[in-house]
Amino acid sequence: MEPKNSSHLMPIVLRPEAVMVRGQGSYLWDTSGRRYLDFLQGWAVNALGHCAPEVTGALREQSGQLLTASPALYNAPGLKLAARLAELTGLDEVAFTNSGAEANEIAIKLARKWGRLHRRGAYEVITTQNAFHGRTLATMAASGKPGWDELFPPNPTGFRRVPFGDLEAVSQAISPSTSAIMVEPVQGEGGVVVPPAGYLRGLRELADEQNLLLILDEVQTGLGRTGTLFAHETAGIRPDVLTLGKGLGSGVPIAAVVANHRGSVFEPGDHGGTYHGNPLVTAVALRVLETISDPEFLRGVRARAEWLGNQLGALARRHGCPGVRTAGLLCALELPEPVAEQVRDACFRRGLLLNAPRPHLLRFMPSLRVSEAEIDEMAKSLDSALDLVLGGKAREHTLVQVDRPTAGQSRRACGAR
Ligand code: PMP
Repeated sequence: MEPKNSSHLMPIVLRPEAVMVRGQGSYLWDTSGRRYLDFLQGWAVNALGHCAPEVTGALREQSGQLLTASPALYNAPGLKLAARLAELTGLDEVAFTNSGAEANEIAIKLARKWGRLHRRGAYEVITTQNAFHGRTLATMAASGKPGWDELFPPNPTGFRRVPFGDLEAVSQAISPSTSAIMVEPVQGEGGVVVPPAGYLRGLRELADEQNLLLILDEVQTGLGRTGTLFAHETAGIRPDVLTLGKGLGSGVPIAAVVANHRGSVFEPGDHGGTYHGNPLVTAVALRVLETISDPEFLRGVRARAEWLGNQLGALARRHGCPGVRTAGLLCALELPEPVAEQVRDACFRRGLLLNAPRPHLLRFMPSLRVSEAEIDEMAKSLDSALDLVLGGKAREHTLVQVDRPTAGQSRRACGAR
């Protein structure tokens, strides 16, 4: 392997030694030629896998035509993408930006302006504990990640956090200062936390009754990740403001805020950004959106999600894990001991990339195209890593083959907690 010199990178995250040079589909390769099965995919970013042909093709074609005109000029792919997003969400207007955090900043600005215009100056946004909305100062304040409030004081004000999944707590928190409610349909970074049935619908009703905006952060759950194009579809509701990122560019940085006419209150001068909605990234996102919104593709995602949920269910039973949480191809395995980082590292040594967001939790965010064979390969490496770290506790002696389960088994194993 080539010598690595990381002394000029700010140490903002702990990284393993390997230096990645190539990616294809579900695999990454480092400088030594070692191959890794990637169940991180840039934290649910490469929806179509590494270097998907749709993405590289759109990049090649668009890069020969126009990269950036100016955010003060229209460009053809940007117009098409906005129209398609409006059509697919049932909402009306779109603002593009570069990252999920910035999309949420825009949503917060919309909430404040909307409150000023329509709720006598209300500005407060009700958010939830353990939420993740980004790492700008405002989105950190909106997030409920434990410990964050102490990092960079003074913190932006205007947020009120309540427990996730608790409609009564939201209802109690509403005051004349409230302008919006902002939640993730499933808390991703919080550990794949699926709210009780009826939660999103209840939030929609509360927002309507109390004249508030409902903002859904689908940066992680959107674009097919949970098995439908947007996670909120299964609740049969629409938000006033929807934020998207990650999978929208499948590896290329683009994010978007989509709003209905009610929530879309910006006027010229309220927002802007040098790279926002440039033709290079919007051309890619258009291609990605066309691929993912195909009902056949989404059916495939649900089938692959079921397979992954079953494999994790089988591993959970074998290793005495308390449970599996699934929301399509966003899954988490709860561990019986706080050893997630040791398991993640043991997986890394076996050529498998996994995320350990909490001491008791592993998270799985493969490409939406991950194959059953790749899921089986992941399960085999994880089985061996769990064996090593948990010392074979609660494990049967046979090397368990992960067979295709019956429909009944699969429903049980996939059941969200
Ligand atoms: N919202 C949610 C729900 C997220 O999961 C993330 C990223 N993990 C963000 C916002 C922030 O996105 P970005 O890292 O692109 O700023």
